[in-house]
Amino acid sequence: MGRFDFGPDHPFKPERATKTFDLCTRYGVMNHPWMTVLDPEPLDPDLLTLFHEPAYLELLEEAGRGEVRIEMLERGLGTQDTPLIRGIYEWSLRAAGGTHATMLSIVNGDALAAFNPLGGFHHAMPGHAEGFCYLNDVVIAIRDALQIKPMKIAYVDLDAHHGNGVQQAFYRDPRVLFISVHETGRTLYPWSGSETETGEGKGKGFTVNVPLEPGTDDDVYGFVLDAVVFPLLKAFSPELIVAELGADILVSDPLTHLKMTNNAYQSAVKGLMDICPRILALGGGGYDLYRTARCWTLAWSILNRLEPTDEFAGLVGGMMFGPEMEVGSLYDYPYQSKGDVKEKAFDEARRVVATIQTEVFPIHGL
Ligand SMILES: [Zn+2]
Repeated sequence: MGRFDFGPDHPFKPERATKTFDLCTRYGVMNHPWMTVLDPEPLDPDLLTLFHEPAYLELLEEAGRGEVRIEMLERGLGTQDTPLIRGIYEWSLRAAGGTHATMLSIVNGDALAAFNPLGGFHHAMPGHAEGFCYLNDVVIAIRDALQIKPMKIAYVDLDAHHGNGVQQAFYRDPRVLFISVHETGRTLYPWSGSETETGEGKGKGFTVNVPLEPGTDDDVYGFVLDAVVFPLLKAFSPELIVAELGADILVSDPLTHLKMTNNAYQSAVKGLMDICPRILALGGGGYDLYRTARCWTLAWSILNRLEPTDEFAGLVGGMMFGPEMEVGSLYDYPYQSKGDVKEKAFDEARRVVATIQTEVFPIHGL
């Protein structure tokens, strides 16, 4: 799965998953007796229609076989973001199968927490591909879990991009509390996810969007987590959290304008664990490969309540995993935005938090 190639110019690199596995092993947070590594089997294609349109699935399957048809373009197949790649149907089916299998392990009580670094394709839509996503593994796994066992599921999307595909699926569904914290749609794809998008009908108040300004740093991020994300999750009291742990919020990410370090990222994951330790974690975005692998290694450590330690510190050259200067530590140096950028990020965050507290909190008895 990690060797699958979206093309030399495409920012999505599945090898991040392999790097994460290697880094977890190096830091002693893999191979514990309670852990099981599952090979991702292809999802049962019958489950795809839990979200996707048959006509789109047919074209995607053809695209995966190397066929080219003009109708594909209308479905997002053959664009710069979601190119035609031989094997893409099979690969996406396996990625979705991984998410689905780990979801079932948790629902059946075989596992408490699980992580699919090749999951979290939150932009895929019922009838078209977009934003590097072809099949929405998230929606399919959640919908099937709800069929198997009625329960309260919180979907928490930490990726820098708004989780638009997942939002669409559960916009009218109060069984799923959808919370997405992301860079504002004014400056970043998919150009949606305003704080005024709060769900409809029975789902009113069960969609929560926290858009952040470019330049948002750890301070501002910590503020919104404490002010809206954690209180809403506590009030909803989920039996299971599905967490999209995209690492493209990092200051080093080449595609976004957020400025977080993995210190803020860890606080977020720890906060989720404190509220509900039954977590299905999914990879999502992250285009600084080395730092994404570090984020996910930290996330896996937190999910397993382990302290990562580098058994080879000082012995193995740093070029194996990244820049020499950061070897021996998984943790980022502190970073803070300054001046007008910081002020604007904080002002906007306060405004968004106040809106959510007024509009959404009462629906949850807060
Ligand atoms: Zn993203």
